[in-house]
Amino acid sequence: MSLKLQVTDLKKNFGSNPVLKGISLDVNDNEVVVIIGPSGSGKSTLLRCLNHLEVPNSGKVVIDNVDISDPKTDINVVRQNIGMVFQHFNLFKNLSVADNITLAPIALKHEDKAVATEQAKELLTTVGLAEKLNAKVQSLSGGQQQRVAIARALAMNPKIMLFDEPTSALDPEMVGDVLAVMKDLAKKGMTMVVVTHEMGFAKEVADRVLFVDDGQILEEGTPDHIFEHPENPCLKSFLDKIL
Ligand code: ADP
Ligand code: MG
Repeated sequence: MSLKLQVTDLKKNFGSNPVLKGISLDVNDNEVVVIIGPSGSGKSTLLRCLNHLEVPNSGKVVIDNVDISDPKTDINVVRQNIGMVFQHFNLFKNLSVADNITLAPIALKHEDKAVATEQAKELLTTVGLAEKLNAKVQSLSGGQQQRVAIARALAMNPKIMLFDEPTSALDPEMVGDVLAVMKDLAKKGMTMVVVTHEMGFAKEVADRVLFVDDGQILEEGTPDHIFEHPENPCLKSFLDKIL
């Protein structure tokens, strides 16, 4: 099994506020790692440090054998291999679905527009939105927009996908469709790191669950370990609140 992501003793402060206090984490090829933990514990900051949307104060991040902390590394090239899906979709609202999906492949990979559009059609089919290619983003529901955001990330053919609470901003009836797309991706072998409060998803799909609290990983293990046999008192009280 090969390592896709290796994080070593990652630290990040905002001013004098230590937000990540030494996170170490290995993710193998094809593995799905779910991160849970209270609000403000540093989960988003951790994901953002993985592609240098936030620059860590210290520690090492190696993605697909590329050390992104090395000043010689071209972070823009690394980012092309990392798909990121956010809570609030971050699509270009005034553009069509097709333009949102083909923008990066055309601009960054110099793909031919017709080829990129054909690929966009295929991706939209896999997320259940084949008929929306030419729709304007603003005409879509939140759940549809999030599935477009996933298709957009996949269009760059990423080696790893990072999800930051992808269903937290959705109306409840739309959550299932987005989770189904994510489950499908996991089944196809995509390496994924997913911050979520969807414990059903974590139990069903995660190979490993990490509990992050106050900038540290306090416990990690299989879903069965984390949800049925938690040890850390903070994890126990977190689970009592959310389950
Ligand atoms: P989580 O995603 O677990 O809710 P975050 O990573 O968003 O937590 O935030 C962790 C802490 O870092 C919080 O105290 C938050 O206020 C702080 N923080 C996050 N981003 C910034 C920023 N850009 N500037 C200052 N503080 C920040
Ligand atoms: Mg967050």
